[in-house]
Amino acid sequence: SNKEIEKALSQTPDLTKNAITVLEKRYLKRDISGKPVEKPIDMFRRVALNIAEADKNYDKDADILSTATAFYEQMAALKFLPNSPTLMNAGRELQQLAACFVLPVDDSLEAIFEAVKNTALIHKSGGGTGFSFSRLRPKDDVVKTTKGVSSGPVSFMTVFDAATETIKQGGTRRGANMGILRVDHPDIMEFIYAKEDKTKLTNFNLSVGITEKFMQAVLNDTDYDLYNPKTGKTAGKLKAKEVFDTMVQLAWEGGDPGIVYLDRINAENPTPKEGDIESTNPCGEQPLLPYESCNLGSINLGKYVKDGKIDWEDLEKTIEVAVHFLDNVIDMNKYPIQQINDQTKRNRKIGLGLMGWADMLAMLAIPYNTDEATDLAEKVMQFIRDKGREKSSALAVIRGDFPSFKDSIYPKMGFKNMRNATITTIAPTGTISIIGSCSSGIEPYFAIAFYRQVMDNNKLVEVSPVFKDIAKREGFLSDELLEKVAETGTAHGLSMVPEKWQEAFVTSHEITPFWHTKMQAAFQKYTDNAVSKTVNFPNEATIEDVKKTYLLSYNLGCKGTTIYRDGSRTGQVLNVGTKE
Ligand code: UDP
Repeated sequence: SNKEIEKALSQTPDLTKNAITVLEKRYLKRDISGKPVEKPIDMFRRVALNIAEADKNYDKDADILSTATAFYEQMAALKFLPNSPTLMNAGRELQQLAACFVLPVDDSLEAIFEAVKNTALIHKSGGGTGFSFSRLRPKDDVVKTTKGVSSGPVSFMTVFDAATETIKQGGTRRGANMGILRVDHPDIMEFIYAKEDKTKLTNFNLSVGITEKFMQAVLNDTDYDLYNPKTGKTAGKLKAKEVFDTMVQLAWEGGDPGIVYLDRINAENPTPKEGDIESTNPCGEQPLLPYESCNLGSINLGKYVKDGKIDWEDLEKTIEVAVHFLDNVIDMNKYPIQQINDQTKRNRKIGLGLMGWADMLAMLAIPYNTDEATDLAEKVMQFIRDKGREKSSALAVIRGDFPSFKDSIYPKMGFKNMRNATITTIAPTGTISIIGSCSSGIEPYFAIAFYRQVMDNNKLVEVSPVFKDIAKREGFLSDELLEKVAETGTAHGLSMVPEKWQEAFVTSHEITPFWHTKMQAAFQKYTDNAVSKTVNFPNEATIEDVKKTYLLSYNLGCKGTTIYRDGSRTGQVLNVGTKE
């Protein structure tokens, strides 16, 4: 009954004003006039009750309320939050719960426009889409039926871009796309230059799909072969180093293209018999098979520091509940098309990750740019992966293995059971970190005080609550201090802040690309999927600096790299935060 539910799910979520603003704008149920008809507490109840219902698929007498209570407690305490589509749509008509999709784009007009249609349906529901355009025949190739010539992958990408632009207004949030082209596609140079004009493909992030052969050719300074995907035949050669240098230069100029190591991703593909991975979702953290989708959720690490120590037991509890939650999401999701439903349920991938990493480090007084921090990153991520796998195995005993388990990598690794083909992913947590009032993903603080651009140009002023708490506790909080910090964004060089805390609150621009990359690699080591991370460069960084970072990320085992040089772009697909 309602009374029982209200009693069980009663803990009031401790939301900041910014969090409430974001929820009211897009997440809460609204009436026809646009007025919210639920409060944040109702949203968490709606989500918890809806997602708990999946338990009934496995035990018709399951105690849904007790599962919902466990889910609710984690969310209301802001310890664990699912990705935005789950918060927005669970228990409502749309019921589309996943953030990440990859759609195939085959080499026919019919297939291309089928993919455009499916993209529209996904964007309407708040999901993001990734595509490989590598199967499309190159520009100027013959079109048999018309005797004309093909316009090539880059030109077709503009169709997807236009569709996204149009749906923006009606959807729950801006649609985002990832476009990938293999480095051995004949149109690769056009692709690398595709966003040089900054008004083009504004709804796309671009990444070059890098092969091992190509990297070897770069390192040995040799040519490499291009292939026509239509015929499978070689279609010319390029000098690997020249292609690499051009990629680096364009990324230096405007951030695009990034790179993804496709061969590396496929070497770790957990279900190779199900096909090759060609693309990731828009922010790069989720490699997926064609027609696969994935739902994400993130643990807010700042909540597990108690008296200067990590509460591992409490963290373990959250991991268990989170894996249960995300597995349920797969069942409760209403997929936009049947193929996505089927492929998603064959592998049952989930993406459990984290946010509030910078908060955790600051609370422990560990500067982000140190070996101590990257060592702890490995330890925390290994813990999440190991406990996550334990829980997934335990679920599999009751619910069954994911259907493609037998031919997956897990039996060879010694696992008898597994419910999910992947368990860990590190997402950007662009919006849910605002709801959780924590630092986003594994990023360092962008600034200790800053203006944040939210959705339709609403600007919110923020001071890191962790900084405020610690300044208060350590006795150096003052109005003058906050004013000073807001001016430059950093506590560095402020005599009123003890040196230890100046270093613990190191900001993104004070951290060298080397440490950004090392941190990404530390987390990647224990992440099944990939890690969303931007390597920040100062405006005056050189092309050579960017090149060094690409080679470092390759050598350290990252699955991709996204860089951003300060001031090199005016608008971007995802605005995580901007200092004014
Ligand atoms: N995403 C999207 N549009 C957006 C933001 C995100 O489609 O405006 C998708 C995209 O696939 C991205 C994923 O959601 O990689 C996760 O992004 P994030 O963690 O920032 O989402 P949140 O759950 O915080 O809203």
